[in-house]
Amino acid sequence: MKRVLTQLLNLSALVVESSLQEGSILFLSVSKKTKIAICPQCGKKSEHLHQNQNSLGKDLPMGDKEVILNVNRRRFKCKTCRKTFNEKLDFVGARKTYTHRYAENIVKQLISSNVSNVAENNGLTDEESR
Ligand SMILES: [Zn+2]
Repeated sequence: MKRVLTQLLNLSALVVESSLQEGSILFLSVSKKTKIAICPQCGKKSEHLHQNQNSLGKDLPMGDKEVILNVNRRRFKCKTCRKTFNEKLDFVGARKTYTHRYAENIVKQLISSNVSNVAENNGLTDEESR
């Protein structure tokens, strides 16, 4: 089942660890496949996991289910710099609460629709979709 969900999710760097269905919402706990991260200071690889941090992000719906990703954004420690850093997640912006492809989907809808319709279709307020 997890493998199927990982394929359905189709974000190549990610593995679905677990899933939880709550009404019309599907929560997927995901983490990156790789066990290493690149230090942003010195560019060296680090395998030294410092801390696990979870953040929630809205993704494209699957069928009639809204998808919320529970992303394990790991914190690594660089042995060279002796500093900790967050791994880079390329499918979601640093301080965004939704994935890039979710945002792209909104943009596509905006082209053929007006702002308040898109906001309505996605359960967002006008403010969030700008
Ligand atoms: Zn470093």
